[in-house]
Amino acid sequence: MMNGLPSEEQVVYPAGSEMMALFAQVLPYSRLFVGIEVASYLPILSGCAVRETMPDEILISPGGINRNIMLILSGSLTIHLGQYPSEAVGTVKTGESVGELSIIGHSLTTAWVVSAVPSKLLVIDEQRVWALIDQVPAVARNLLLILAGWINSTNRRVLEQRETIDMLQEVARIDALTGLFNRRWFDESLHRLLSGRQTERVLSLILLDIDHFKCFNDTYGHPGGDQALRVLAEVLKASVRPNDVAARYGGEEFALILPETSLQAAVVVAERIRHSISEQPILAADGQQLPCITLSFGVAESTPGIDPEALTTRADARLYQAKKEGRNRVCY
Ligand code: GH3
Ligand code: MG
Ligand code: MG
Repeated sequence: MMNGLPSEEQVVYPAGSEMMALFAQVLPYSRLFVGIEVASYLPILSGCAVRETMPDEILISPGGINRNIMLILSGSLTIHLGQYPSEAVGTVKTGESVGELSIIGHSLTTAWVVSAVPSKLLVIDEQRVWALIDQVPAVARNLLLILAGWINSTNRRVLEQRETIDMLQEVARIDALTGLFNRRWFDESLHRLLSGRQTERVLSLILLDIDHFKCFNDTYGHPGGDQALRVLAEVLKASVRPNDVAARYGGEEFALILPETSLQAAVVVAERIRHSISEQPILAADGQQLPCITLSFGVAESTPGIDPEALTTRADARLYQAKKEGRNRVCY
């Protein structure tokens, strides 16, 4: 069955006075015929089919051919995008219609149109649509307004989707606990900064890890540990420049990428953070002041052509060395 084309048993021809009464009641107020002398379009509509629908009946599905405008005489339709069943993105009510875009644009259908409740639809076939446009200019004008409405609602939906995509992308690169970038964003950033024409520019990587954090958690509880991680994140955010990348590398380990920064300058940054955190109060949720934490650091500078793994391994080896030499220190 062609989309929108009613099968015989669903069709009632509008010969009866009951249907003419419905026409008289709805058409003068419908979006397609509003403000138009009834006598100018009724002859063209004579002989049109009226389709009666069941609840949840699918009238149009995406990717099909539609050759009719369906004007709702009673009831309502819902519009769904993507998969069906799914939440409706719009409702089409009595006096409104569907199918205009696919007829005028000769395009395949893009949405699901479903009968929300038992409905009566005036099915205006393509030939009659063009006859109306040719013979009743006011219908053509109304049709333009209807098409503009569809285009506007599509644009609004695209904008909303854009905002959703932006929000999801933001969520996908941020660590929820600390608000710092996550490991994925760190990996992508380091790869981007070390690749291509930026290879020759020097960049430093700092890896840092909280000392004896397991013990801190065991003593002050996981929520206390989480609070320490948040405090550290704030110190890191305050210690870096806008172009630097401060990321949670995993667990209680963090990474800072400092573009255009030499090893010596990066060591100064690391020492500043080490000093800062050593006197940063950590307040538990109940107001209790927890002891300050200390950090161990490994710092490495890029060399031309170095890949992200090699630079990370170099910084990690120095972090390991800092742990081995007694913690709370910067190795480079
Ligand atoms: P070291 O000085 O050698 O780094 O010792 P450490 O105890 O810090 O290292 P270890 O790897 O033994 O323990 C890391 C701890 O970090 C254990 C783990 O529970 C804690 N941790 C990791 N992620 C989180 C987190 O999101 N919240 C809290 N509260 N703790 C975390
Ligand atoms: Mg640790
Ligand atoms: Mg660790």
